[in-house]
Amino acid sequence: MTYDVIIAGASFAGLAVAARLRGKRVLLLDRKPVGAGQTSACGTLVSTLEALGLQASIRQVHDRLVLHTPRRTFVYPVDNDPFCTFDYEHLCRLLYAQGDAEFLQAPAQDLQQHAVQTPQGAFRGEIVVDATGWRAALVKNRRPDLIREERLNFGLETVANYQDDGLHFWFDPEALLKRGVAWAFPAGDHTRIGVGSYMGETRLKGDLQRFVSGMSVQGDGLHGGYFPHALRTALVDDVFLVGDSAGQCLALTGEGIRPALFFGTHLGDLLRRTLDGELDLQAAREQYRNLVEQRRWGYDTLCLAQRVLPRLPLPLLQVLMGAVTRRPVLNTILRVYVEAFRLDDRSRQLTPPDDERMIPVSPTT
Ligand SMILES: Cc1cc2nc3c(=O)[nH]c(=O)nc-3n(C[C@H](O)[C@H](O)[C@H](O)COP(=O)(O)OP(=O)(O)OC[C@H]3O[C@@H](n4cnc5c(N)ncnc54)[C@H](O)[C@@H]3O)c2cc1C
Repeated sequence: MTYDVIIAGASFAGLAVAARLRGKRVLLLDRKPVGAGQTSACGTLVSTLEALGLQASIRQVHDRLVLHTPRRTFVYPVDNDPFCTFDYEHLCRLLYAQGDAEFLQAPAQDLQQHAVQTPQGAFRGEIVVDATGWRAALVKNRRPDLIREERLNFGLETVANYQDDGLHFWFDPEALLKRGVAWAFPAGDHTRIGVGSYMGETRLKGDLQRFVSGMSVQGDGLHGGYFPHALRTALVDDVFLVGDSAGQCLALTGEGIRPALFFGTHLGDLLRRTLDGELDLQAAREQYRNLVEQRRWGYDTLCLAQRVLPRLPLPLLQVLMGAVTRRPVLNTILRVYVEAFRLDDRSRQLTPPDDERMIPVSPTT
């Protein structure tokens, strides 16, 4: 059972890699069916989804970010490059249909040489990609130092049955989490409400319940998990890491979907060129490592901001938040923040996706 590429993890990062490898022998592994394991509020830029031909999954477009503090509310227009909330399962199905990887529902347990161990047997890949999220399941035994608790944020979410507009954030260290935020992301007929701790605090159920009842709404269900806030590494030995597994989620904003899609798409393109004989594997490793490392300063800056900003006295913080409402300041920040992960229009280069391609729910062997 030898493949050109084995990708462990079939969420944003893993699916983005697989989408670029149509026609190659690719095995995609996940412990859950594709599209089944939503952990996030699914907010991202419209332009990112459009570039990848995924806009059909959008549930609501948002042209403003709203930041609430105990005494003031700040509104940041993002009409030049709006955000959106999307349907996780739908997006995963669209991305999955762009590739033609074989899917196996099984946990990747370990990696020995180039063989990925699963309860269904071992599968050998010339190239192996770890896209298993913050756990970095394939490389954690080789590099246990990558998964450090103090480098993880934690978030918990529920869904409430009301409609609104804009992506809302609350920073209120007295009434809410000391070092954390709460958010409400409307997504059409419902709103995703969550709380997140910058200290990786996992006992957030009570905080979430208090926040939700303070809004006089009722939450339905719970989902969430860890998300890294420090860039890790692009490669462990010859295994490629992408998405949260590589620590590519951004600190402070907790935005991890855009980086996962950006790096996943670029990694998929590099691997395709390697398999086509245009690029040797060593050059692909170097190019991928460089692509990631060029952005390390941005990751480190946000990491520092996440450490410093929540510790500032609230009046000073409010002055800074107010300064950012000024258009030139806001536009400069947004330009740097958005352009770092800008995808050009890849959807036009795609082989038309196979809409009929169903996601297998039973394991392939
Ligand atoms: C509460 C919360 C809200 C968030 N909201 C947003 C948001 O609105 N916008 C945003 O940009 N980011 C958000 N994030 C961050 C974002 O969810 C992550 O950065 C993003 O999901 C990373 O994508 P990924 O593909 O790398 O990993 P994941 O989405 O974590 O996917 C990893 C995949 O690997 C699979 N897997 C895990 N272990 C194994 C294994 N051993 N074998 C096989 N498969 C395995 C999992 O089942 C999963 O499908 C949020 C995070 C949380 C926790």
